[in-house]
Amino acid sequence: MAESTNNLKLLYMSDPYKNALTQLKKVGEELNLDEKMIAQLSQIDNFYQSTIKIKMDDGKTKQFKAFRSQHNDACGPYKGGIRFHPHVSEEEVKALSMWMTWKCAAVGIPYGGGKGGVIVNPKELSQMELERLSRAYADFITPFIGPWKDIPAPDVNTNSQVMAWMLDEYEKNIGFHQPAAFTGKPIAIGGSQGRTQATGLGGVYVLESFLNYLQSKNIKWAKKDKKDITIAIQGFGNVGYYFAQEASERGYKIIALSDTQGAIKNTAGLSPRAVKEYKRNTGSVKNFQEVENISNEDLLKLDIDVLVPAALENVITKKNAAKIGAKIIVEMANGPVTPEADTILTKKGIYSVPDILSNAGGVTVSYFEWTQDLQGYFWEERDVEMKLEKIMSQASQLVWENFDVLKKKNKKANLRLAAYALAVQRVVEAMLLRGEINKN
Ligand code: NAD
Repeated sequence: MAESTNNLKLLYMSDPYKNALTQLKKVGEELNLDEKMIAQLSQIDNFYQSTIKIKMDDGKTKQFKAFRSQHNDACGPYKGGIRFHPHVSEEEVKALSMWMTWKCAAVGIPYGGGKGGVIVNPKELSQMELERLSRAYADFITPFIGPWKDIPAPDVNTNSQVMAWMLDEYEKNIGFHQPAAFTGKPIAIGGSQGRTQATGLGGVYVLESFLNYLQSKNIKWAKKDKKDITIAIQGFGNVGYYFAQEASERGYKIIALSDTQGAIKNTAGLSPRAVKEYKRNTGSVKNFQEVENISNEDLLKLDIDVLVPAALENVITKKNAAKIGAKIIVEMANGPVTPEADTILTKKGIYSVPDILSNAGGVTVSYFEWTQDLQGYFWEERDVEMKLEKIMSQASQLVWENFDVLKKKNKKANLRLAAYALAVQRVVEAMLLRGEINKN
């Protein structure tokens, strides 16, 4: 087996659902929640699975394991993406649905948490097979979703075209139009302006807000000129590309980028747009002009200002956390830092801006898309961006303020605890108001 495949396998050895539960337990302790309440918050409301069967182009039938997890809907309908990936598992989908609950609560949008996935390598499917798989998945989840029930969206290896097929199939099943049942759709069938770049752009708003916070604390390096602030990004898909592009347009220096094939580095700076064009033609960022080819693991160790994991979970673990060279991490992937790694980073004085805040731009514009679909009235891109900036900046500010408060009583407090504490408190309040739980 190739070394890179081995490394990729290692990423999945730690169980993301266990990590999600460990994170919740830590917050529960900070908020003095009793064990019963933590157990209730840990519970997955509904978990559906199916073996879906599709006809392949060669006429043979193939089976794929499919999941949908609905964690908690105290704050509103379940919301979360659908992932097509060979490493999708029950545990991963459950963890991702729980993180969605906290994420929506962290930025104060009226949703609970859901997530779905199919165990498949979509790169091995033809376009027709991908369409059949997407439609079959929509058939599987039709009874469990809807604008006031559970609203899926794209995630790793699913995009607006996949959402278009799924919505079309869903509408055929229910017999009428219901665009608000899916978000991340193409504009022509009820998508929102600004959705494609929303997660990356939202992450850049969070980064800028955090740099302002550090400047207000007189942290010298954060006062550097933008062009001297160096950024490395792992994963160059939807999220990684738009983060890179938006940061680069604002003047920050992107010095390393990567995908599954490997990483590239150029200390003089990389043009995300040019690398994207190159990747479109060659299939990878590797061997882009005038770069040093390095490994994904080396990218994590670079001596830089900002590290942006934007690929998959469990990338920064107890094995490599001590070697991270960045001053801050902006978690654009879901769950890229394991709880053990989080402790090591905090001890080292590396700030890790948690995923539930950093990558909430996507679900925020999904919320705008849902709102527009329900009204049948669509906004201009600048309105979307303005409203996104407002939500992301306000949510960030609250997290930094809570961090200052927590630090005074708990030396081990970090940004994750600050964000989680706010989010979990909101969900607990909603559950109390509904009478779903009792006061401590
Ligand atoms: P994507 O499929 O568009 O891109 C994933 C990228 O990561 C690809 O470039 C792939 O080559 C790369 N990659 C995969 N494994 C890698 C590895 N081990 N090392 C280096 N690169 C690797 O997916 P995306 O939509 O950009 O999502 C990326 C992450 O962001 C996921 O964790 C997802 O859950 C999270 N996220 C996405 C959104 C969204 O709106 N798309 C919103 C919130 C969070």
